Order: sequence, then structure tokens, then C-alpha cells
Amino acid sequence: MDNKIELKREREKRTVSLMISIYCRKKHHSKGVLCDECKALNDYAILRSDRCPFMESKTFCSNCRVHCYKPEMREKIREVMRFSGPRMIFYHPVMAVRHVIESKKEKKRLENT
Ligand SMILES: [Zn+2]
Repeated sequence: MDNKIELKREREKRTVSLMISIYCRKKHHSKGVLCDECKALNDYAILRSDRCPFMESKTFCSNCRVHCYKPEMREKIREVMRFSGPRMIFYHPVMAVRHVIESKKEKKRLENT
């Protein structure tokens, strides 16, 4: 097992959980604990990351995610990302900046192929 991939996987899981918790806190006014709906989404997202066969080549939040989520969850995670993505900078600047850089890199890579 490649350590770098596992690290990336862990990082992705942390980022997605953070996004969901921001979303839940602001939108559903939960306090510290995710509501049932968001907990289900979080569990699902983590499971997807665990199973993702493209971890090596993709970056977090790439189009890949959109393909492997089932439609219902895809809609939810999109909403969460739209909502929490811009807010991440206040909570976890380092994570947010890294996320932007990696997304840009990915875009460039896709354009070049
Ligand atoms: Zn919630």
C-alpha cells in the first residue's frame, strides 16, 4: 500500500467531514454533533473515499466524485461543497488553500491531456 495515497485519502476524508460539519452547523443549526441526514452523508462520503479506486490520480472534489456518488448523495455533497467551500478559508485556511491549489493543478493536467 502506498503511503502517499493513504495520506491523501485521510486528508480527503478530513476535508469532506469538515465541510459537512460547517454545512450542518450553519444550515441545520446543529451543535457539535451532525444531524442524522448529515451524518448519513458523512458516512457515505467516507465510505466512497475508502473505496475510491482513483485515489492516486484524482484530487479531492474532482469530477470523479460526481461519477461515483449515487444521484441523491451527489446532489447533497454538491450543495455542501458550494456552501462550505468558500467558508473553509475561515476555519481551515491551510486546508482551503491546498484544496484550491490541487483543484487548479488537476484542471491544468486535464487540459493538457
Ligand atoms: Zn445537518
